[in-house]
Amino acid sequence: MIVDNHVHLIFPGSDPEEFLRGCIRTGAAIFTRESGPSGDPDALYENSMAVLSDREGDKLVARMDEAGIDRAILLPLDLGLGCSEPDVGAPDYLTAAEKNELHFQVTQKHRGRLFTYLGVDPRRPGGAALFRQGLAKWHVLGLKLHPAAGFYPHDPLCNPLYEIAREAGVPVLFHSGTEPAPLKSLYSQPCYIDAVAAEYPDLKIIIAHCGHGWWREALDMALSKPNLYVDFSGWQLEYSGNPDYLYEALRMAIDLLGPWRVLFGTDGSLTDIIVPPRDWVRAWREPQSPSGISFSEEELAIVMGAAAARLHGWD
Ligand SMILES: [Zn+2]
Repeated sequence: MIVDNHVHLIFPGSDPEEFLRGCIRTGAAIFTRESGPSGDPDALYENSMAVLSDREGDKLVARMDEAGIDRAILLPLDLGLGCSEPDVGAPDYLTAAEKNELHFQVTQKHRGRLFTYLGVDPRRPGGAALFRQGLAKWHVLGLKLHPAAGFYPHDPLCNPLYEIAREAGVPVLFHSGTEPAPLKSLYSQPCYIDAVAAEYPDLKIIIAHCGHGWWREALDMALSKPNLYVDFSGWQLEYSGNPDYLYEALRMAIDLLGPWRVLFGTDGSLTDIIVPPRDWVRAWREPQSPSGISFSEEELAIVMGAAAARLHGWD
């Protein structure tokens, strides 16, 4: 079984336009580094959204079929407070509650294939109540937090959410690593997640993207706290720049932590423009490492599926 541990739905109103434009502008700037200007940012945004927009998860499931991915975990983002909520009042604007309920409906449409976490900014009044509602009514598998919106993981205002996750026995996943403007990367450094792992040793915590450029720090944190996991979603930019950037970090993660705390993911759908899921799965299963880094069948079976299944109680 292959499990994509980290995926997002994008559609008009899914996230602040300011954030999506920032991601697309950043990706375009990197891709065109050898050929000068990255084109008309408005046209790039419109074209990307037309391709990616997927309110009901149909395109996602089609891409999973193509890639041989059996299950995927949706992570709703609540970034409005980090983006000055420019879309409040716009026709497409969704509250955090509406957005999470919509993700639940998508999992109902694609039962057995798509699952969801609950995503909420801990500064939202009613965030804890929303998490409880998600657990009771929407069968959420865990909690997704995005500190780059402007809060630290170890801020005590997050504690009610951690208490609920601990009580329910579900994991908490933090975005970790840099983000395009208007989000702020300093909140997403792995060392702040370490403080939560220390306060809540029974809570299973995923450092998403293994901290990207902070991957050594993320692994160091996970070495000292056995309740920390890492996912290697969203490494398509690093991989397409130099495949060994991914393979070195992934090899090191498995060597240091063992395979059961290392998780596969795509971070689609934005990253699908860089490396489609079909090719991303192949990059993991049949690594073409310039320096010969390799993985055993057993390691890949655990990292790409069995570890996520065990974490979410599917086995
Ligand atoms: Zn993500």
